Amino acid sequence: MAHLVWLKRDLRIDDHEALATAAARGTCIVLYVYEPEYYASPEFDPSHHTFIDASLVELERDLAARGARLTYRYGAMPDVLDALAREIPIESISSHEETGNAITYARDRRVRAWAASRGIPWFEYAQNGVVRALRTRDGWAKRWEARMLRPIADVPPRVVTAEIAHESRRTFTDLGVVDRRKPEALPGGSTAAQALLASFLAERGVDYRRGMSSPVSGAVACSRMSPYLAYGAISLRRVYQATLARERDLRARKADGETIDGRWLGSLKSYSGRLHWHCHFMQKLEDEPALEFTNQARAYDGLRENDFNADRFAAWCDGRTGYPMIDACMRSLHRGGWVNFRMRAMLMSFASYHLWLHWRPTAVYLGSQFLDFEAGIHYPQAQMQSGTTGINTLRIYSPTKQALDQDPSGDFIRRYVPELARVPAPYIAEPHLMPPILAASIGYRIGVDYPLPIVDHKVAVAFAKDRIYGVRRGAEAKSEAKAVYVKHGSRKPTPRRQTAPRPAADQRE
Ligand SMILES: Cc1cc2nc3c(=O)[nH]c(=O)nc-3n(C[C@H](O)[C@H](O)[C@H](O)COP(=O)(O)OP(=O)(O)OC[C@H]3O[C@@H](n4cnc5c(N)ncnc54)[C@H](O)[C@@H]3O)c2cc1C
Repeated sequence: MAHLVWLKRDLRIDDHEALATAAARGTCIVLYVYEPEYYASPEFDPSHHTFIDASLVELERDLAARGARLTYRYGAMPDVLDALAREIPIESISSHEETGNAITYARDRRVRAWAASRGIPWFEYAQNGVVRALRTRDGWAKRWEARMLRPIADVPPRVVTAEIAHESRRTFTDLGVVDRRKPEALPGGSTAAQALLASFLAERGVDYRRGMSSPVSGAVACSRMSPYLAYGAISLRRVYQATLARERDLRARKADGETIDGRWLGSLKSYSGRLHWHCHFMQKLEDEPALEFTNQARAYDGLRENDFNADRFAAWCDGRTGYPMIDACMRSLHRGGWVNFRMRAMLMSFASYHLWLHWRPTAVYLGSQFLDFEAGIHYPQAQMQSGTTGINTLRIYSPTKQALDQDPSGDFIRRYVPELARVPAPYIAEPHLMPPILAASIGYRIGVDYPLPIVDHKVAVAFAKDRIYGVRRGAEAKSEAKAVYVKHGSRKPTPRRQTAPRPAADQRE
């Protein structure tokens, strides 16, 4: 008999309630399942496998240090469980709750039915602030805070695992996946997560509030915890509590008369707010799984569905729209799988407004390119930047303004769009406006070496606004907005720490 610990997006031993409780119950099987459905899902990218694999290597090591072995199986769930149950009777299943996409949602339902039909209890533990079967958003922020302040689950000193057939980690070839890695992607694993968090809280985070908006300063000033949170290489609770501890430490030192860099406390407050947003957005998909596919406000149905332009989509995906900031951000994703929030919002907004593409295919593509793809954050954010939520202010970014504001020297653009390497800073955001004589003097051929803008900014934005406001002003959209707010809108800040966003602040930075 064995207690099964089913690892999903919780690839760590620290603060792992499912592992800790199962280990206390008796002999365990600590299981990771390679699910073919996941590898075939549209948002999957080989870089995700690389990250997961590195996390599993560490987990194997950490479990081995506690006398335990990590068991791997390949196959659909619950068939894998069926086969395991023939090897050894399963007494219980422990895992963390998951707010995934439609694939993992359906798979969890199948597992639930399987376990119930065999009378096997399935213990699911929350690992973040997302509340299952939430009845109302009122009071949600308080519940989030309470969960995040719960004690960290102890790492079990010893985990006894059952002697069953051993299978090794799967390689790209085993999985039938092309070995395509991102050369600038962060490495997976809990060690990297802890090191990044430590450097953020000790040094990098000091300029978080000011530095987060630019892809250049943001790469250092942002925590970069997102892929580690997405695959659970570190728990959100651990990150939040470490942030509070740092804040307390700074305040105490300040009270003792030490000179503290004035930026720290504001930056840490903003950071805590983002950790709250992590779950605030995931809660939307948890409450309404259809948000992965359908407009949050149904009044917007039909707005873009029939206008999909495959050439525009391909240019956007490849980073050859003729808008240097868009193309640099997209190509930076190809190389590293990360770009800061502001640039993600700009990429999505450009696709949805300037190119008038429906958010679903563009969100799927971005999901595949983000190392930190987290369906619960991703789809609600994609809709928010596309004007289909019904409750958020319309925000259309000008890629030229973003380039001038966030990359004034043009170094970021030149790094990822080498065709523009010789273009001087005053023209880097709009190289097609370079005087021909200047272009000739640097050997740059306008419209040949790099595309002309795929659409005219002013014309495209006017068209998009006209269409969106056309719906927004309608009676149906107005009455639906109230219902959407009641279901998904963020409420007042929590009284104690004031970290929760105000209702209209979802998209502020
Ligand atoms: C269209 C779009 C899609 C996005 N898709 C994802 C996604 O798939 N996975 C993902 O983790 N984030 C996503 N984000 C949110 C945000 O951009 C990233 O979390 C952030 O850039 C990750 O970098 P970081 O860890 O350095 O963030 P930091 O600024 O250091 O923030 C720390 C953590 O807070 C959370 N967080 C920060 N900003 C947000 C936000 N605006 N909304 C929700 N949570 C936030 C993340 O967990 C992040 O790791 C998306 C944003 C947009 C506009």
